[in-house]
Amino acid sequence: MSTTVDLPLLPLGRGKDLSSERGVECPGDLPAASDPDLVARARAAKEALGSRVFVLGHHYQRDEVIQFADVTGDSFKLARDAAARPEAEFIVFCGVHFMAESADILTAPTQKVVLPDLAAGCSMADMARLAQVEDAWDAMVAAGVASSVVPVTYMNSSADIKAFCGRNGGAVCTSSNAESALDWAFSQHGDDTKVFFLPDQHLGRNTAVLKMGLTLDDCVVWDPRQPDGGLTAEQLRDAKMILWRGHCSVHGRFSPDTIDDLRATIPGINILVHPECVHEVVLKADLVGSTEFIIKTVEAAPAGTAWAIGTELNLVKRLAAAHPDKRIVFLDKTVCYCSTMNRIDLPHLVWALESLVDGVVVNQIEVDPDTEHWAKVALQRMLELPGKSHRD
Ligand code: SF4
Repeated sequence: MSTTVDLPLLPLGRGKDLSSERGVECPGDLPAASDPDLVARARAAKEALGSRVFVLGHHYQRDEVIQFADVTGDSFKLARDAAARPEAEFIVFCGVHFMAESADILTAPTQKVVLPDLAAGCSMADMARLAQVEDAWDAMVAAGVASSVVPVTYMNSSADIKAFCGRNGGAVCTSSNAESALDWAFSQHGDDTKVFFLPDQHLGRNTAVLKMGLTLDDCVVWDPRQPDGGLTAEQLRDAKMILWRGHCSVHGRFSPDTIDDLRATIPGINILVHPECVHEVVLKADLVGSTEFIIKTVEAAPAGTAWAIGTELNLVKRLAAAHPDKRIVFLDKTVCYCSTMNRIDLPHLVWALESLVDGVVVNQIEVDPDTEHWAKVALQRMLELPGKSHRD
């Protein structure tokens, strides 16, 4: 194992003070959440900026923010939408840190990407830090398997993890094209190929077992908190899938018991979940797919049908409001928003937009040129995958 020094958690907003919670303190005047003029102020600032600003809203954002989004979507769609708007000098990304990084990577150097609150990170992305991943790679080198390992990272990872994959012959994937990405990866070194899947163990496992025909025994989990990942060299040599021990704190909450309860109380209910859910939940669900798949499935469902949806609550509530002819419930007994997505609220959006009107670019997300180059290599390999949509 290498002696790479690891950093404490919270690698967000690189270059900032690691001992503080970044983004909580806004330089300047953050409007009070109780300010009755927030909606009017956001509207006025957007109008003043005109086509110079393009506001992106991820599906999991609050309604109060989504109302100001020029486009909504998943992270990859939004980054591509931003790239297709080169006239927009400022991209205000209402989402989380890794998404703003991806937008910076895919947009022109003249475009500035702003994240209204730097504390809007992603707990899953934070679970795989470059120093830890390099330690795991060193262990694979020591076990004599690295030359047949293809690293594949989920879109929901930091730019430096995407760049790690680019540098080491790997690719990025989304939850829509994970199967195509694994197909491609397993074809790289013949029968000996192994895939090192980052950072979401559940997406990796669900895709490997349910789509690729691998068994649970073909998968091992690298735990960055354990010496040597908790794995022996023999286990690394025997595995087909080396899964990173990361998960989504929202999708990881859904449980098979809740599915049983719902089926008992709402006859005929359809269970629709995201592949970031644990394997046992996915096994019990009727349908599994990306955020875009979930939206399209609900839109296409006949009136009178009942759906329990296992994804972020803001989206489930919007779907329920948009489809009153269908019964739509959340697949958890407790309220469960993505806490970091919810950091982006109207006061932060107003602050970011008004600062731009005043000529001050706040909370700009910039990926360094070397990281950007290699992350683009990994993203390009994803774009060249055959078939499936590239949305997550
Ligand atoms: S929903 Fe999960 S994967 Fe998405 S930003 Fe929140 S923690 Fe990250």
